[in-house]
Amino acid sequence: MAILKILTIPDPILRQKAEPVAKVDAETAQLMRNMLETMYVGGIGLAANQVGVLKRIVTVDISDERDGSKALLMANPEIIWSSDEKFTYKEGCLSVPDSFADVVRPKKIRVKYLNEKNEPKEVEAEDLLSVCIQHEIDHLNGILFIDHLSRLKRNMIVKKVEKTCSRQDQ
Ligand SMILES: [Zn+2]
Repeated sequence: MAILKILTIPDPILRQKAEPVAKVDAETAQLMRNMLETMYVGGIGLAANQVGVLKRIVTVDISDERDGSKALLMANPEIIWSSDEKFTYKEGCLSVPDSFADVVRPKKIRVKYLNEKNEPKEVEAEDLLSVCIQHEIDHLNGILFIDHLSRLKRNMIVKKVEKTCSRQDQ
């Protein structure tokens, strides 16, 4: 397995729409495992855009174990139902370093996807797991959690991240 480089804003790949996966083959499954290992460095979810790959793949694991036993490896994840009831969670993102803000999303969702063996699956998720899957599917559509905030809040975060990143580049 390998740790992949995570792209941060304002990288344009984060704003592009990822393409569906035709079949989860050995190469795709390997990418999923590499993404999982990369995610375990510091996150509970990762989308392929974040490692520079425009394929509809996400990994998610909100368990304490973080050993892969409870991880979701999803290709072509699609929300097929979401609750009217909302849930607010202070979200962060590996691509928007050191920034957190409350985002309101549906509390429960049902998602269909292909697993690492190319088998069609469905999962029902609520609260944090629901939030995490929605956040990652947003990535596949070029959407970041800061897009759910007011323009004022979003601009504050973007400016802060750009300042920190340009300081690191020097
Ligand atoms: Zn993210």
